Amino acid sequence: MANKEFKAESKRLLDLMINSIYTNKEIFLRELISNSSDAMDKLYFRSLTDKNVKVNREDLKIKIDVNKEERTITVTDNGCGMNEKELDENLGTIAKSGSLAFKEENEKKEDIDIIGQFGVGFYSAFMVADKVTVESKTIDEENAYKWESSGVEGYTIEPCSKQEVGTKITLHIKEKTEEENYDEYLDNYKIQEIIRKYSNYIRYPIQMEVEKRRKKEGTEEYESYYELETINSMTPLWKKDKKDIKGEEYNSFYKERFYDMDNPLKTIHSSVEGQYKYTTLLFIPKNLPWDFYNKEFEKGLQLYSNGVLIMDKCSDLLPDYYAFVRGLVDSDDLSLNISREMLQHDRQLKVIAKNIENKIKSELENILKNDRENYEKFFENFGLQLKFGAYNDFGMNKDKLKDLLLFYSSTEKKMVTFKEYVSRMKEGQTSIYYAPGESIDKIDMLPQVEGFKEKGYEVLYLTDQIDEFVLQIMMEYDGKKFTSVSQESTDLETVEEKEVVEKINEDNKEMLSFIKEALNNEVQSVRFTHKLKNHPVCLTNEGIISVGMEKTLNTMQNNQNAKAQMVLEINDNHDIAKKVRFLYESDKEELKKYAKVLYAQARLIEGLELENPTEISNLVCEYLAK
Ligand code: ADP
Repeated sequence: MANKEFKAESKRLLDLMINSIYTNKEIFLRELISNSSDAMDKLYFRSLTDKNVKVNREDLKIKIDVNKEERTITVTDNGCGMNEKELDENLGTIAKSGSLAFKEENEKKEDIDIIGQFGVGFYSAFMVADKVTVESKTIDEENAYKWESSGVEGYTIEPCSKQEVGTKITLHIKEKTEEENYDEYLDNYKIQEIIRKYSNYIRYPIQMEVEKRRKKEGTEEYESYYELETINSMTPLWKKDKKDIKGEEYNSFYKERFYDMDNPLKTIHSSVEGQYKYTTLLFIPKNLPWDFYNKEFEKGLQLYSNGVLIMDKCSDLLPDYYAFVRGLVDSDDLSLNISREMLQHDRQLKVIAKNIENKIKSELENILKNDRENYEKFFENFGLQLKFGAYNDFGMNKDKLKDLLLFYSSTEKKMVTFKEYVSRMKEGQTSIYYAPGESIDKIDMLPQVEGFKEKGYEVLYLTDQIDEFVLQIMMEYDGKKFTSVSQESTDLETVEEKEVVEKINEDNKEMLSFIKEALNNEVQSVRFTHKLKNHPVCLTNEGIISVGMEKTLNTMQNNQNAKAQMVLEINDNHDIAKKVRFLYESDKEELKKYAKVLYAQARLIEGLELENPTEISNLVCEYLAK
C-alpha cells in the first residue's frame, strides 16, 4: 500500500474544505452526484464510438445508501470508473485554481460564497466526512482499486475486490459538534430532500431505499419495509410543459445552475417546431456576474442534445452584446459527439442563434416598455455591453441595438431612449443634442449646455467614454443627426442671430487672431459668441474629434495622437468682452496675459490639464493683488 501526499494546491483546497465554516455544507452531495453523472456520460459516449463497449442507457444509475449505525453515506455509480493512475491523478491533484485564486483575492470578505459560486467538486466531501473511501473499476481492466484519505496528511491507494464497473464513494460522516449537526446527513429524509433540491434534473435515476409502511397481513398493525425508489424527477425542467412550471421552479433552477444568488430579471422559455426542433431556456440576470468585465469571462449557452449536455459554453449561440444571457438550448437533431469546429459551421446552430438573438431583443424591448424601473437597473449593469455592441465592427449592429440604449436627459432628469427624445423634439429642431463629460453634475454646469437649457432644448448627457463614439458611428436616429453642444456649428441660433455674430467676428478679425497667436496657436480659432449666457468663455470644437474623445483616444494602447480642433469662444455679452476690446486698443502686452488666463479657464471647465499651471497661477495672483 502506497502512502501518498497531496499536491500543494490540492492540500490548500482540502484544508479549506475540512475547516470550512461554510453553512451550506449539504452541497457536497450535489458535487458527488454530478461527478457520477459525468462518469456515466463518459461511459455512454464511449459506447457510441467503441464497439467493444456495450452500455444500455437504462442501466446507468446512481445509488445512495445511508447507514446510521456505521455513520456512512455511500454514492455508487456504474459510470466509467477510474484505474489506479486516474485515482492518483484525479483525486490527488485537484487544481481548482479559479476558486482558490478568488478566495485569496477576497480573503477579507467573509461573506463571499466561493463554494456556492464555483462548486469545489470531490473535496467538498471533506466538509462533512473525516474519512473518504473511493473504490473504482474501469471497463478496461480486471483490477479494481481503493483510494482512501482522512485529510491533508495524504492518501493511500491499494487493490480491492470491487466487481462491477463504476465507482463507489463512502463518506464517514463527522461526529456532531456544537456548531454543526452532522447527524442530519445520516437522516434518510434529509438526504432525499438534498437530492431533490440540487440534483432533481440529473438525467440518471438517483435511487435510495425508502422506508414505507403497510398493514401487516390479517392484522390492524403496521410494519415498515424498504423499497428502492428513484428520488429525482429526471425530466429536465425545460422539457416540461410551460404551463406546469411554477415561476419559483425556474428561479431555483437558474440560481443553482448559474450560481447567482438572485432571481433572474427575466426567464424566456420557448419550444420551436419548424425546420429544426429545439427548446431554449434563457435567463437575463439582474446582477453582474463577478467576472463579467474580466478578459477571462466566457459567454455562451449550454448545448444539449436531447437532454444530454454536449457543451457547457457554446459561444456561437450568443452575440457578444448579449454575453450576459445565461441558459441552454436543447435540440433533438444535434449529434452527441459533435466538435466545436463542426458546430461553428452547423447550419442549424446558425438558425438557432439568429432566433435566440431576436428573442432576447424583443424581450428586452418588452421589459423596457412594461417594466421601466427594472430595465433601468438592467441597463446600469449591462448597458455598456450594449453600447460596445452598437459601436464594434464599424457599427454593423447599431440598428439592432439603437432602441435599447438609454442616456441621461437634461429635461427629464432620467434615462431616456432616442425614440423618446425624438418624440419630444421642438418644432424646427433638426438635431439630437448631446453633451459629453465626466458626470451628470459636471455636464450640467458646462457653459455650452447653458444656452441649450435656456432655450428649452433637451440635451443627452454622455458620461461613459464610449458614448460619443457610439453616437458618431450611429450618425443619426430616425433621420435626426447627433450634434454635440460643443460643436461650433450648432443651430441654436436663428439665421439672423448668426449673421449678427458673424459680423461681430468679422469686424474684430484682427484682434481675434492676435489672441490666437498669443495662445501659440493652440486653438484653431478664437471667436465671439452670443450662445453663452453667464459664462465668460468656453471651448468648442470643429471637426469630429471632440475634447472628450481626444482624452479617450490618447489613453488607448496604440496612442493615436488624436487632436480635437478647439475653438475658444468668448461671451460677447460679458464684461470680459469689453475688457478684451479695451486692452487691444490700450495695452496689447496685457491682453496677451489675459488671453492666457481666459484660455486656461476654458480648459479647466472642460476638465483638461494646464500645460503651464505655475504661469497661470502667477498671473491670476497678479490680478488678484491689483
Ligand atoms: P471536476 O469534476 O470539476 O473535474 P472533481 O474534484 O469533482 O473535479 O473531480 C476530479 C476528477 O475525478 C473528475 O474530473 C473525474 O475525472 C474524477 N472523478 C470524480 N468522481 C468520479 C466518479 N464518480 N467516476 C469517475 N471519475 C470521477
